[in-house]
Amino acid sequence: MEWLFLLLPIAALSGWLSARSHYKKRFSAQQNCFDPDYFKGLNYLLNEQPDKAIDVFIRLLEVNSDTVETHLALANLFRRRGEIERAIRIHQNLIARPTLKPAQRDQALIELGLDYMSAGVLDRAEQLFLELLNSPSPPTDAYKHLLGLYQQQKQWQKAIDMAKKLQSQDPTKIGAEIAQLYCELAEQAIKVDASRALSFLKQANQFDANCVRSALLEATVHIQSDHFSKALKSLAKIEQQDPHYIPEALPLLKTCYQALNKLPTFQIWLKGLLARHPLMVSAHLMLAQVIEIESGTEKAQAYLQTQLQQHPSLEGLHHLLSMGTLSNQVLLPLVHDMTDSLLQHGRRYVCQHCGFSGKTMHWHCPGCQHWGTIRPTELHFSSFEPISEH
Ligand SMILES: [Zn+2]
Repeated sequence: MEWLFLLLPIAALSGWLSARSHYKKRFSAQQNCFDPDYFKGLNYLLNEQPDKAIDVFIRLLEVNSDTVETHLALANLFRRRGEIERAIRIHQNLIARPTLKPAQRDQALIELGLDYMSAGVLDRAEQLFLELLNSPSPPTDAYKHLLGLYQQQKQWQKAIDMAKKLQSQDPTKIGAEIAQLYCELAEQAIKVDASRALSFLKQANQFDANCVRSALLEATVHIQSDHFSKALKSLAKIEQQDPHYIPEALPLLKTCYQALNKLPTFQIWLKGLLARHPLMVSAHLMLAQVIEIESGTEKAQAYLQTQLQQHPSLEGLHHLLSMGTLSNQVLLPLVHDMTDSLLQHGRRYVCQHCGFSGKTMHWHCPGCQHWGTIRPTELHFSSFEPISEH
């Protein structure tokens, strides 16, 4: 309930502002006085009838070019609070005014569309935005919101059409987004019609040559049709596009090399990859899998042990343990080194005031200079930062 009092100054201020400009224009000599409605609203508020109070205050805010912004801000506030009916009423009230400038009218219409979206009346929102597109100079936001709406409804083709219009309207980089939308279409087609899926992926590539997702999907389509060499060709693009996504490609690569009876080639490729990205844990694990298939469990275990000593990782340890029983002589020093190194990464002491964290106790926080705000915390996995290459 307290928040309503926050509205009071806004209402009073804009009431005063509109009154001031009103009087300035027409009766500059006349004395300023409060509108009796203001007291009526106040009375409602004090009697805990906020609904009536708000209606009065909204009416008080005379709609003119000075107060449109206030109306929009107020309506936005209501929408964010989930009081969508109220937001709709304010926007409809604004739109009904013939004095509104075209740009303000457009904005109010867009906001009304957003109200409908929040209320889940998507067809009305769509209709409203589409009507805006027919105006002589359609606002860019109408395209953007339609794009958002079609994405929300998973109407990918419509979303693509809208995104393309947006691309010609507003030359900001939207190509990567369009590529993703084509990937969505390809994913839908993949099980029904492989060649249709491939043609969508080709379009994705035209809009974003670095679209990793389309390379992965292309490989999936080829694997489905037993075209393993083609799949390898698609997957080979990913390292150039963005090496962070290689872990997603590794299982597909393994499938292809295995089907082609070329695991030794895969092994060589993995070693090359690891020379370029030595911290890629998933590549180490994949290499261990290939070594296991090619040369047996012992060799794979030995490889993982050496790797774990250099780059401790939980996944690595887990993988090593699942490969078979290890002697305590091997296991214990390994686990000790791992936990030791993990603990060193953990942030043991955290300032409750500024969030400063460190490995040693400070009674005077080096971050915010407060005394006694740093507390020891128990180490959880969440306090370990992801191991990444920089
Ligand atoms: Zn601090």
